[in-house]
Parts: sequence; structure tokens; C-alpha cells
Amino acid sequence: MDKELLKIENLTIGFPTKSGIHTVVDHVNLEVGKGEIVGIVGESGSGKSMTSLAVMGLLSEEAQVSEGSIRLNGQELLGMSREERRKIQGRNMSMIFQEPMTSLNPVMKIGTQVGESLKLHTDLDKETIRKRVIETLASVGLRNPETLIDQYPHEISGGMRQRVMIAMAIINHPDLIIADEPTTALDVTVQAQILNLLKKIHRDTGSSILFISHDLNIVHFISDEIIVMYAGEIVERGTARDIFYHQQHPYTWALLQSVPRIDDEDKTILNTIEGNIPDMIYPPKGCSFCTRCPYAMKICEEEKPKVTHITDEHSVACWLMDPRADRSGVPFGRTDA
Ligand code: SF4
Repeated sequence: MDKELLKIENLTIGFPTKSGIHTVVDHVNLEVGKGEIVGIVGESGSGKSMTSLAVMGLLSEEAQVSEGSIRLNGQELLGMSREERRKIQGRNMSMIFQEPMTSLNPVMKIGTQVGESLKLHTDLDKETIRKRVIETLASVGLRNPETLIDQYPHEISGGMRQRVMIAMAIINHPDLIIADEPTTALDVTVQAQILNLLKKIHRDTGSSILFISHDLNIVHFISDEIIVMYAGEIVERGTARDIFYHQQHPYTWALLQSVPRIDDEDKTILNTIEGNIPDMIYPPKGCSFCTRCPYAMKICEEEKPKVTHITDEHSVACWLMDPRADRSGVPFGRTDA
């Protein structure tokens, strides 16, 4: 897979507080290839949304990017002026947000909002833009697009609003679509429709997708590669198959146990992950998952785990991968795929 589209290196983001810097993204490295779907999964506070906001240039003013690089098609995005960023947003990359009602402008007609990026980034005339908006709304499965363009967001359902958001994101054929929890606010049936729609868009247009979610089932359904984040760090990465069937990190395993699996016939009770993400103003000396990990060892409190490469694609940061670690009783790392 060509890895040239998006390359993030050593990205580190913090927020200044009275007690010190609250680090939310800590030396994150990731790549999205052309035509690839990469999923980032983790609880709230894991740093996944902050990473995607940094790519889009939408971090709040208080956020401090202390280190790192974000390149799209080889072009460095960090340090760009607002004007330069605006040229890239909507043309080369676009974002689908979690809650369309708060992302869409309630007093602007749907047609105007969907066509905005064409107005900003192309020389198309009004009539051509209108035609493209109608075509795009139809392509995301919205009926009667000729009527819809003159309606306001509050006049349509949540599922339709999310389709409108997707139409906005794809109308200018961006290289990269960032989808941040795009199905969280929707019921299960609409959720499945939206996921299938994103897959179809990916197949039809070849756009790459960076898909953010707390739900490992959903990320597995849509992604080629999955990155698991915890407390601002990447703790495991691999192909969707590696992470879903051969996960090696206790946090990945805990995430998997906390979502329903349709292929798991014996399991009826879902687990929760006890405890909270640590206070990252005072980050732990060793593994960030230490206080919540049932397999924590002495060394986990004292030293950050090193990254172990199981294959070229699958890597994990956990002391259990050390040959000296006792893995008896560790139930994960399934081989039943
Ligand atoms: Fe658990 Fe230790 Fe692995 Fe961290 S390094 S996930 S504490 S076993």
C-alpha cells in the first residue's frame, strides 16, 4: 500500500494549565496511504480526536503543538497560515463530525452549505454548483434532493443530517476524509447504513479515510489498518485482522471485551474497563495503562514499555511482549481467526 498521502511524525500536543502542561497527544506517528482506510480507536481522552483536529488545523487556540510534523502529499501542514490551511480544507481533505446538528449551520439552507466548498475552491458558476450539489445529495442516498436543497437542518432527521455532512465532505473529491465518530449519535440501523455508505464512497472515489471511533467493532468493520490509542499514545497497531483477532495489548483486549460481538456465541455479559485515564499533567513514569491493567508487573510502574514488532504491520507497546514476562493466564492474543 502506498503510504504517501498523510504522514504524522512525533506529533505532541498539550494544553497549558495552572499545574503544568496537560499532554493529550504524545509522540504519535502514523501514516495513511492513498486509497487506505485507517481507524483510530480508544476511549474519550485517548488523543484520537485531538490528532484528527490537528490534521484538519482545527485545534483550539490554547492547544500547543510542541513537536512533530504533519504532511499531506508531502506538504507540511503545521505552521501554515490560516489562509493556506483554508485552501487545503475542503479541497484536499474534509471532515465529517460526530454531531451534525451542531456542525451544520441552523440558519443556512442545506444546498448552500453543501455547495460552499465548491464556491470557495472552484470557478464553477452558480447553476453548475447547484447541479453538483443535487447530484452529490442523491449519491449519498438522499431522496428528493431538489427539494432538500431549500430546507434547513432542523427540518430533516438525524440520519439525513449525517448524510448531508457526508455530502459536504465528498463534494470536492478530497484525497483524505476524516470521520470523527460519524455514527455515534445514530441508531444501529442508520449506523450500518452510514458505514456502508462510507465504504461505497471509498470504493467509488478512492478517497482515503481516517476513521475515529471508541467502538472497536465499527473500526474493524470499516478499516484496513487499526491504531489503538491510550492516554495520548499509540499502544498497538496492525491490520484490522491483527487487532480484532490477534490483539496483544491488554487495553485492546479490554476494548474488545466492552463491545458486543456478533460472532461470539458464548459471551453475554459485556465488561467495562475499570478506572480512568491517568492525569496527564503528571504522567506516570511507566506504562500509562498500569493502574487499570490486570496483568501489570513491577517493571510496568517503573519504565515505559518498548515497542515490539510482531510483524512488519503489527506492533505493540507492552512489557508482556518481553520474553522474560510470564504470559500464563493472559487470555488474549486469539488465534481463532
Ligand atoms: Fe499492562 Fe504492563 Fe502491558 Fe502496561 S506494560 S499494558 S501495565 S502488562
